[in-house]
Amino acid sequence: MLKLERLELSGFKSFVDPVEVRFAGGITGIVGPNGCGKSNLSDAITWVLGEQSAKSMRADTMEDEIFNGSEKRKPLGMGEVTLCFRTEPGFALSDDGHMVVSRRVFRTGESQYRLNGKLIRLKEIKDLLMDTGLGVRAYSVIEQGKIGLILSGKPQERRRLIEEAAGITRYKARKKIAGVKLEEATANLLRLDDIVSEIERNLRSLKR
Ligand code: ATP
Repeated sequence: MLKLERLELSGFKSFVDPVEVRFAGGITGIVGPNGCGKSNLSDAITWVLGEQSAKSMRADTMEDEIFNGSEKRKPLGMGEVTLCFRTEPGFALSDDGHMVVSRRVFRTGESQYRLNGKLIRLKEIKDLLMDTGLGVRAYSVIEQGKIGLILSGKPQERRRLIEEAAGITRYKARKKIAGVKLEEATANLLRLDDIVSEIERNLRSLKR
């Protein structure tokens, strides 16, 4: 099991200066007046895991994830969020008992992802985190109204969450990739059949 230990934000949404939120044992509650940035913290968690939809992040564009400036502070050119987890012994992605995932975004729109400090592509992060319950559409982040959506959702939507929890998402993804490869191989075989019959035809006429 992965245990969230720390969330670090810098230049992300309303968090202009670097902020570190530590999750000690038990339950951690975040309390504050309306508009102080509580939901921005949960946005940060899904964002670092690869959220691509600005709307899901309650923003118009992905650039809105970077601090946009205030009366006293200039806008920043880069936003960064880091999540630090404690891992169980033997966990494949562990680095000295921890796993650190981070994402940076620049005003150019470019995003950079890191796993344990090493640059990595978003697809690789998604593949590696499959079945851990972590991910943009996984069940580890239940935002406002999500329980209602799960209860009123279609059985297929509920099935996706259950499959993730049961640890079979990775195998379904592999099955899909294998299916595509099989289709490609079948197409190649057909093409080979065509070539073989063409050569046989040529051979026959040469023999004659
Ligand atoms: P509520 O209790 O009303 O749900 P909240 O505490 O969850 O509020 P958030 O919705 O997380 O608050 O934060 C909203 C605040 O974040 C607003 O003041 C908004 O101006 C600020 N904000 C959002 N994006 C940016 C940005 N890119 N740059 C600066 N400030 C931002």
